[in-house]
Amino acid sequence: MDFKKKLKLLSPSVRKNFSKALEDLQKNIDVLYELATIDEKTEVYNHNFFKTISEMELEKAKRGSNLLSLLILDLDHFKKINDIYGHLVGDAVLKRLGQIFKESTRKYDIVSRFGGEEFIILFPNTNIKRAKEVSERLRKKVEQDKELRRYNVTFSGGVSSYHQKDSLVKMKQRADKALYKAKNNGRNKIETE
Ligand code: GH3
Ligand code: MG
Ligand code: MG
Repeated sequence: MDFKKKLKLLSPSVRKNFSKALEDLQKNIDVLYELATIDEKTEVYNHNFFKTISEMELEKAKRGSNLLSLLILDLDHFKKINDIYGHLVGDAVLKRLGQIFKESTRKYDIVSRFGGEEFIILFPNTNIKRAKEVSERLRKKVEQDKELRRYNVTFSGGVSSYHQKDSLVKMKQRADKALYKAKNNGRNKIETE
């Protein structure tokens, strides 16, 4: 007998309580899901969630379009912002950045916090040229944002794309190398590798 038929065997009052219990359970699951996947400070995905999704996207790329890119970005001289304006302002800056990145990317791009003042964004179905363009757009948005402009917030970014037989570790290593180049070339820049 299927689940729905079995439910009908219950008395109306039990059925009602059961429905309510299911509804409550769903709400709790939603909260738990959010707690498990979202970074509290920035409200973007946490790195654990990023790892799970990016492994899935890598498999999809391998079997399908072969297109997958990622951006690792690190705020420029963020220590100075904390030193001058305090940690609370630093935290508000991180939160605003999370908003900008979410608003300015597609629904299925995965924006996540990589570490303290670093973010990592996965662009499914995207080649390196396009990923660089999007990253440049984000860089300009941050540079020109009304809330952030007064603190002179900028970031440097490194972009890499899927190569045949690639792994996420290798993709991250190339993005990191590109980020290092961007920092050395004067910051507030996007490089690719
Ligand atoms: P660079 O351009 O070379 O990246 O310089 P930087 O100052 O950004 O780099 P550094 O690694 O020296 O400093 C990173 C700073 O980011 C120091 C740390 O206090 C700050 N930071 C990391 N996580 C948080 C956070 O959650 N909140 C705040 N307010 N600051 C954070
Ligand atoms: Mg850093
Ligand atoms: Mg930094």
